[in-house]
Amino acid sequence: MTRGFGKKKWPGINRRGLFCRVMERNAATTASGAKAFKENDKDDEAENEADGRKPAETGATDDKIKCPKCGKLVDKKRVAKRRYVCPECNGYFRVSTNARIRMTADRGSFEEWFADVKPVNPLDYEGYEEKLSEAREKTGLREAFTIGSCRIFGEKAVIGICDARFLMASMGSVYGEKVTAAVERATQEGLPVFLFCASGGARMQEGILSLMQMAKTAAAIRKHGEAGLLYATILTDPTTGGVTASFAMLGDVIMAEPGALIGFAGPRVIRQTIGQELPEGFQSAEFLVEHGFVDGIVKRMNVRKTLYFLIKTHERRRSGSFAEFANAGERFVLSEILKEKSALQAPVSAWEKVKAVRRVQRPSALDYAGYVFDHFVESHGDRLFGDDPAIVGGIAFLDGQPVTVIADVKGSTMKECQMRNFGMPRPEGYRKALRLMKQAEKFGRPVISFVNTSGAFCGIEAEERGQGEAIARNLMEMAGLKVPVLCILIGEGGSGGALATAVGNEVWMLENATYSILSPEGFASILWKDSSRAKEASEIMNITAQDLLRLGVIEKILPEYGGASEQTAEAIAGNLKDEIKAFLQGFDGMSGEEIAERRYARFRRY
Ligand SMILES: [Zn+2]
Repeated sequence: MTRGFGKKKWPGINRRGLFCRVMERNAATTASGAKAFKENDKDDEAENEADGRKPAETGATDDKIKCPKCGKLVDKKRVAKRRYVCPECNGYFRVSTNARIRMTADRGSFEEWFADVKPVNPLDYEGYEEKLSEAREKTGLREAFTIGSCRIFGEKAVIGICDARFLMASMGSVYGEKVTAAVERATQEGLPVFLFCASGGARMQEGILSLMQMAKTAAAIRKHGEAGLLYATILTDPTTGGVTASFAMLGDVIMAEPGALIGFAGPRVIRQTIGQELPEGFQSAEFLVEHGFVDGIVKRMNVRKTLYFLIKTHERRRSGSFAEFANAGERFVLSEILKEKSALQAPVSAWEKVKAVRRVQRPSALDYAGYVFDHFVESHGDRLFGDDPAIVGGIAFLDGQPVTVIADVKGSTMKECQMRNFGMPRPEGYRKALRLMKQAEKFGRPVISFVNTSGAFCGIEAEERGQGEAIARNLMEMAGLKVPVLCILIGEGGSGGALATAVGNEVWMLENATYSILSPEGFASILWKDSSRAKEASEIMNITAQDLLRLGVIEKILPEYGGASEQTAEAIAGNLKDEIKAFLQGFDGMSGEEIAERRYARFRRY
């Protein structure tokens, strides 16, 4: 089914980079989120009013157009060529439905669905019909929402576009009906759905019937999901009100354009209600990523390839398909130099291992992942509170087989260590990991978890948000996942904070990694009231991979060829890749129930 995808040329993506920078935490445009936000705010004043402004109209001459963000006159053709991104400030112009289709679908592949749904005026609201025909004339569209099937790099998908020029893309009955009918048809035809969202909210002229569209669209998306199909949204400027509170926020993957205004209540309404000014960047796309509600910012130039990546990683596969590799035959070969180096290696004491795994130079999960996986796209956020950089998660290809990757990451520079909180996750980190693992289960992807943390973060906010609850829930939910889960301890395995992402069908350790109930310092302090006896504690705590293999806590020890370092990372990863592939082959064709039952039995024996 993957048809050798692992070796296929990736459209528009340089294969070298591990992180295809397509879903970013903050796609720093020079027009910052804050600046874009101020502009967006003006549009909010016109909420639910016909925004007749064509994206290329304000202050324009024949070949010049005024940028709505920086106000400079810029060359029209150049702007169009740059996918309606300002060449001066990188600010985003709003795009028309036709331009969006051109930028997304393979040329000539778009076929509109349900184009002939008749307009309605269910409450006989006076002047509404005139308003509709006015909007129609201005935009050349029948309604604010257009949907149909198309191909993206040859792959079939459904795309829908909300057009803010048409009555602020407010959602009425026709709009809601088109979303719902198209999602139903996509369910029947087994197609993924991508919706480019924009809206001022519900369409006031249709009153309560407009409100009902929110529940109707959400219900259809649920059925589409139950059929194991991918539904993803791309939030564009502005996405607010009833659309945010229904289909826009229900994506398996939620993306946003840089600087887009996204919120439930509009900023003007919030300001009036609470009687105070709002902070800079409030309700920007970047704000939503930081607060855990959007998977990532996607620049326009990356949208097509991101959708393609999502289609390929969510293809419907035969059930129990966990090991469809593009090149199963290629095996890792250890160099003579490393063979010799590992043979000459002197035994390493437990305390030396403790010191080794704490060294900031020790390779991280991201270093290994760069060699193990073909592509990796990171997802952010727990959809509840925030995005925790101490845990990285996303989707990758392992020789053509899609997998979900979870990894504790400590950071390799002082700045990165601070940003990642030295790899000590907060509750939102564990909840993000769980969200991504549940998603892996939904789409039948195996989970590969790299564990490397001194422990869960200890602090006031972590307790306020339920650190204990977050860890406990992960243990319970991971136990029942109906896909293979492999956990690899690559450095420090500190207590419950490590176990929270280490409930696997198998648990492996790198040769010099450690895994313990708490740090040797903590152990010595509690049992002997003397933390300076940490070295002594480390020798009796059974924290080394060799001890844990003997105790049956892990299944396998992975060689480090003389110690994990920049020089050995590629070899460690090469061997690891072969081992992961063999592990997945062992589950190929197995039912989800059996996979979960085996994991249950594994932990039942302790
Ligand atoms: Zn500009």
